[in-house]
Amino acid sequence: MLLRPHHLLCIQKFTGHGYDAGFTAHMTAVSEMLRGQPDSRIVLKQGADALCARCPHLRDGECDAADKTDALDRNVLDALSLQYGDAGTWRAFAGDAYTKILQTHAFHKICSCCQWYDLCRRTEVSSL
Ligand code: SF4
Ligand code: SF4
Repeated sequence: MLLRPHHLLCIQKFTGHGYDAGFTAHMTAVSEMLRGQPDSRIVLKQGADALCARCPHLRDGECDAADKTDALDRNVLDALSLQYGDAGTWRAFAGDAYTKILQTHAFHKICSCCQWYDLCRRTEVSSL
């Protein structure tokens, strides 16, 4: 599965809220699949990914908030010492994101600019 880096965080913080019904149903299916099959192979992608594919903010193949979402991706890559094109299991990537971002001050630093931050910071996540 192709995922943009900041979605390593969003999927773990997902509690059934999304931009519209289609997006939310798709995100639910993806997060349940990854929870059930944590050894699924993930490739970190620049730009639109498997979640964006069903997002109403995707226009002509590009996120309409690309300035913000590209910066989120960049900051997640930096925090995890990863780069676009890196591949691994969901278990490994999500675990790393949990330990190095979601459980540290990096979470506030990276995510506080996001419209969902207030919800995400109140959502407890357990390590994989
Ligand atoms: S605050 Fe935004 S970017 Fe961060 S995990 Fe939540 S939805 Fe994703
Ligand atoms: S807001 Fe942008 S980055 Fe987020 S899912 Fe939609 S298209 Fe993708």
